[in-house]
Amino acid sequence: MSQIDSLPPLSAVIKTHELSARKALGQNFLLDLNLTAKIARQVGDLAGSDILEIGPGPGGLTRGLLSEGARRVLAIEKDARCIPALEEIASAYEGRLQIIEGDALQVNPLEHLTPPIQVAANLPYNIGTELLVRWLTPKEWPPFWQSLTLMFQKEVAERIVAKPGSKAYGRLALLAQWRADAQIVLTLPPEAFTPPPKVHSAVVHLKALPEPRFEADAKVLEQTVAKAFNQRRKMMRSSLKGIAPDLEDRLVAAGIKPTDRAEVVGLEQFCALARSLKAT
Ligand code: SAM
Repeated sequence: MSQIDSLPPLSAVIKTHELSARKALGQNFLLDLNLTAKIARQVGDLAGSDILEIGPGPGGLTRGLLSEGARRVLAIEKDARCIPALEEIASAYEGRLQIIEGDALQVNPLEHLTPPIQVAANLPYNIGTELLVRWLTPKEWPPFWQSLTLMFQKEVAERIVAKPGSKAYGRLALLAQWRADAQIVLTLPPEAFTPPPKVHSAVVHLKALPEPRFEADAKVLEQTVAKAFNQRRKMMRSSLKGIAPDLEDRLVAAGIKPTDRAEVVGLEQFCALARSLKAT
C-alpha cells in the first residue's frame, strides 16, 4: 500500500485508535489511499471548492480529498472513536479540515461551508439513499451543492442512472435525472473494503443542472412517481387510480398510454403528467 501524505498508513491508524468496524454504523472502510485519491479525483473542482464529506471514518477519503488539493473539507462523523484519528489529519493539513462529530441526518452543515460546494462520501449504506433523496428534493433549485460523488451498493447506483424499460428504473432514476446528470464513474469489488461487504459497490457522480430538465412541481412529481411505482407491475390507469377524476385523458395528453406500466414511462411524460395534475 503506498502513502500519499506524511501520515501513517490507514491500517496503523485503525490499530492505534482501535477502530474495529461496527456493523450498526455501516462501517466498511477504504484503506487503500491510491483508491481514495482516485475517488477524490472524480469530484471535479477540488481546489476551488469546499467539500462536504459525510462519514469520514478513519479518514481514507478525507486524505484523498486533501492530498488531491481540496480547498477545504467539512467532515461529519457520528462515531466518536474516529474523531482523534481525524484530528491528526486536520493537524497535517492545517486550516483545511473541519470535523463535526454528529449525525449527518441532524446536522445542518451549510453555516460551515462557503460555495461552491461539492459533496463527496463513502456513505453508510443505511442512510445513503435518504441523504441522496434529501439532496435531490430541496424546495429551491439549484441546490447548495454543485456535484455529489457518492459510493453506493452497486444495485442502488444502477437504480440512480437507470433508463426507462429497465428493471432498475424507478423513483430514484426519475428524481436524480430530473435535476441532475448522473453517471457511474467507478465500480468496486467487496475486497476493496475492510471488512468486505456482501455486495459490489459503485461511485455515482451527479452534477446539478442549472434548472430541472422539464418543468414540474417537485412535490406533485414526487407523489405521482411514488404512486406509479408503488405497484410497478400495474398499468398506469390502475396504479394512479383516484389521483384525478379524468385520469385517462390526462395520461393520454401527457403522452402516456393508460395501459403502460410506470417502468416504460419517461421523465418528460411524468413531468407533463405532474403539470396537468398540479392544474387540478
Ligand atoms: N469514509 C470512510 C471510508 O471510506 O473508509 C468510512 C466509510 S463507512 C462505509 C461509513 C462511515 O459513516 C462510518 O465511519 C460511520 O461511522 C459513519 N456514519 C454512519 N452513520 C452516520 C451518520 N448518521 N452520520 C454521520 N456519519 C455516519
